[in-house]
Amino acid sequence: MLTDKVAIVTGGSRGIGEAIVRKLASLHANVALVYQGSKERAERIANETAATFGISCVAYRTDVSSFAATKALVRCVRTDFGRLDILVNNAGITRDGLVAVMGESDFDDVISTNLKGTFNMIRHAAPLLLRAKGGTIINISSVSGVMGNPGQANYAASKAGIIGLTKTVAKELAGKNITCNAVAPGFIKTEMTQDFDNEAISAQIPLRRMGSVDDVADAVAFLATSSYITGETLKVDGGIAM
Ligand code: NDP
Repeated sequence: MLTDKVAIVTGGSRGIGEAIVRKLASLHANVALVYQGSKERAERIANETAATFGISCVAYRTDVSSFAATKALVRCVRTDFGRLDILVNNAGITRDGLVAVMGESDFDDVISTNLKGTFNMIRHAAPLLLRAKGGTIINISSVSGVMGNPGQANYAASKAGIIGLTKTVAKELAGKNITCNAVAPGFIKTEMTQDFDNEAISAQIPLRRMGSVDDVADAVAFLATSSYITGETLKVDGGIAM
């Protein structure tokens, strides 16, 4: 259980992040849900989650790619909740295209949100975790970052960068009782993958199905309740990257 712990979950207004919010709340953590554009949806999820699990859940609008905005967010969470124990960096975007024709802004936007956004949150949350002498950071990577994926040079680079960032942060903070791990999902059914051909993709996956958001949330909860795993990248991919 995570009773009385406080978690920040970025990208909590949809898909995998929403499932992570609900899962951590079901373990009695209080949750700061970070979203960018989906205000009504984020607030509805926060209210429903708080009422269902009897914890505190508050939605915060923040662009994770902004160093200044993420600094202000972490300060707000500290003021509102008084502590921080778990940081889940889940917010992410895709702007797919072949590398020979990829636009500069498509590369920059994906790196800014996925990789720099993860750095920004860790940078501002780390001092709180250090002062608390413990905590855990979980970064959502992707099997694209492990294996590469045609059409996703920007995304795969951002997600591979997250794995290097995770290992470095794990080494830097291990002596202070702070763990840092990555979760690398494969094909998960969300809005991000809604246009994918389910049958064609399932045929490539050893377990013969796309994953659910709960498959990923369960892995995050496992890492959030583990104390002796750090620097790891846990694939949740039906075996596609083995
Ligand atoms: P969705 O597109 O369904 O949701 C993305 C979430 O990120 C939303 O909550 C969105 O907020 C938020 N977000 C996007 N940009 C920003 C930003 N700049 N600042 C703050 N929040 C932002 O994504 P998924 O649930 O599918 O994916 C979640 C994570 O899992 C991502 O990191 C993705 O790369 C990764 N992943 C997903 C896979 C899949 O198959 N779905 C596979 C492998 C990895 P809002 O709703 O307010 O716009």
